Amino acid sequence: MKRRCRDPLAWMDQELAALEREGLRRRLTVRQSRQLARVTIEGRELINFGSNDYLGLAADPRLSAAASEAARREGWGSGASPLICGRGRVHADLEERLAAFEATEAALVFASGFAANAGAIAALVGPGDIVYTDRKNHASLLDGCRLSRADVRAYAHGDWQRLETLLAKAHKYRRRLIATDSLFSMDGDLAPLAELADVAERHDAMLLIDEAHGTGVFGRRGRGVAEHLGVEDRIAVRVGTLSKALGSVGGFVAGSRSLIDWLVNRARPYVFSTAAPAATAAASSAALEIVENEPHRRQRLLDRAERLRNDLVELGWNVGRSASQIVPIIVGEPDLAVSLAASLRERGLFVPAIRPPTVPEGEACLRISLTFGHDDEAVARLIEALRRLR
Ligand code: PMP
Repeated sequence: MKRRCRDPLAWMDQELAALEREGLRRRLTVRQSRQLARVTIEGRELINFGSNDYLGLAADPRLSAAASEAARREGWGSGASPLICGRGRVHADLEERLAAFEATEAALVFASGFAANAGAIAALVGPGDIVYTDRKNHASLLDGCRLSRADVRAYAHGDWQRLETLLAKAHKYRRRLIATDSLFSMDGDLAPLAELADVAERHDAMLLIDEAHGTGVFGRRGRGVAEHLGVEDRIAVRVGTLSKALGSVGGFVAGSRSLIDWLVNRARPYVFSTAAPAATAAASSAALEIVENEPHRRQRLLDRAERLRNDLVELGWNVGRSASQIVPIIVGEPDLAVSLAASLRERGLFVPAIRPPTVPEGEACLRISLTFGHDDEAVARLIEALRRLR
């Protein structure tokens, strides 16, 4: 008798229906315009408060020109992993530029910021080691911790005192690593990097920071929150991304020559993944040059963000501990976040609702990402809409 074939993926429809009932189902959208401060989504032009294109470089013609020129000269694909023969002159130039920008001995470019975090952490610690992670760290840091097979301890958000008590009991481990976002991607607050560096030094731990949202935005030269707080020299491992303020794609690690040599040998996402096209590396180099030469972009952005936070607090919204261009409006329940996002959208404003599991239960929010491209009128419209919705 022929056995009836059961769909082995049938459970998924039930799980998706459960997500739908809880207001947690996510759906893809299609952007129908360039990534600018105004975007067309589902046929409608909206002011875009949802992108990480903090300096307005994603659609800058200088990046596309650099990419086109490199593609014409070098061809498109890189054809191999970097260690075999995928890393060309343009990739090497970008890494040199990044090291010069970060004022470190060396830098290494990964396919994404996610790969850089996960690959670096799993290369730094392993069985017999321990890694400490802030509870609000980005998923890529957490996945790196899990991949490493080191013992993992999460500490309450920003709680360096608690971290210190944990570390005081950790001297039996071979190596200790502290991993933290420098600017938290959902709350928009800064990690206490000076205190974390003190704790790391007192307990012989390595400190890795993820500057994904800080690079290009914070610091006099745009190197990030560590520069802003004056602690760059005390941080052994600096991770960044080329995909947010730099408007390109890819991630990087900056640090000592030994660190980079070690990652070349041991960071699996680097070793076992094809190098990015030369064209994306060329666009990233062009973006770095803009970050270096146009500091007014980050200054204007941070000034505007401070005014926006003050205005929202005055209206009675809860912006938590935001101190950056990422300004959450914390409302608690996912349904409320979703309905507020829908009301804003009706008024021509795209502000994403962020729900669990991206944020903890009870902390659903609207997340406003401010960018250099937002003019006074765009911000005024947002504030006016939020005044009415209050
Ligand atoms: N770290 C943080 C804090 C992030 O928010 C993100 C992206 N959402 C990443 C790392 C990953 O960077 P990429 O998008 O370049 O993979």
